Amino acid sequence: KKDGGNHFGFYSAESSVVWTRDQLELERELRAAIKNDELQVLFQPIVNAQSHHIARIEALVRWLHPKRGYLSPSEFLPLAEDIGQIEQLGEIVLKTSCAAAYNLLQLGYPVNVSVNVNPRQLLNKNFPQTIVQVLHDTGLPAKSLILEITESAIVNDMERVSKVLEEIKRLDILIALDDFGTGYSSLTLLRELPIDILKIDKSFVRTLDQNRNDLKIVQAIIGLGKNLGLTVIAEGVETERQVKLLLQHACYFHQGYYFSRPIPYEALYNLMQHKLLR
Ligand code: C2E
Ligand code: CA
Ligand code: CA
Ligand code: CA
Repeated sequence: KKDGGNHFGFYSAESSVVWTRDQLELERELRAAIKNDELQVLFQPIVNAQSHHIARIEALVRWLHPKRGYLSPSEFLPLAEDIGQIEQLGEIVLKTSCAAAYNLLQLGYPVNVSVNVNPRQLLNKNFPQTIVQVLHDTGLPAKSLILEITESAIVNDMERVSKVLEEIKRLDILIALDDFGTGYSSLTLLRELPIDILKIDKSFVRTLDQNRNDLKIVQAIIGLGKNLGLTVIAEGVETERQVKLLLQHACYFHQGYYFSRPIPYEALYNLMQHKLLR
């Protein structure tokens, strides 16, 4: 059944990707994984770096492939888009995340959960209704949910996305602008869209302690966010030095390996119970 490097391929008109037999098999397996609920959702703490309290958690999807082991989102999200399954996948992640946050709330550990949203979801005018349904089914209060959007999600159809986001905002859900600073029109988005939270992209944080310019840029983003009344989160925080620099510049919410990698629900619960975070 397995092709011994004997690939054949053709161009998919939609994505101009060369499909090999391996990829076709992966596509079939991904469909099945989505259908059979084989995707896993990990949670990464977003920490108040002053108190070391877990302020929020971000949901990050994984696929445990029977033969290939854990696959990261970059290895299968584009495929899910290509085969038209990204909205189903997004709904699974949303449900799982809201259910997890509700469980923690019931156990006495209220925490807001942040869920990444794909462009396709944002362009679907039924998306707000889907969210309402998921919140209803899981019992999670709307104010405990944050949606993370990226610039690529929006640029093509600002007007439509803006409408959907306004509707989502009316539900009392917070919106975070992810990977801030990496795109071309981050500032336009800040002006046009109802954003509550800025996430400084990890590419700026990574070299914070080595590169003066990156420090200046991060400083400016923090200032911009504060002036607009937004919460600013730094992602990709890996070192104590980065924590110190960010705190010095009044950025208090940190996400990154320094505090915790993305972990399964049980490990997160353990962490919260025993306050094991550094
Ligand atoms: P993102 O939303 O920017 O998520 C942060 C990524 O940085 C995650 O990669 C996380 O594991 C990684 N990360 C966290 N802390 C550190 C750190 O200290 N250092 C470094 N180098 N990396 C860190 P991951 O889990 O591989 O996810 C990659 C991207 O895939 C995400 O980037 C997000 O855009 C997308 N994604 C993940 N889950 C979902 C999902 O459920 N739905 C959608 N639409 N996209 C998702
Ligand atoms: Ca994110
Ligand atoms: Ca990000
Ligand atoms: Ca990213």
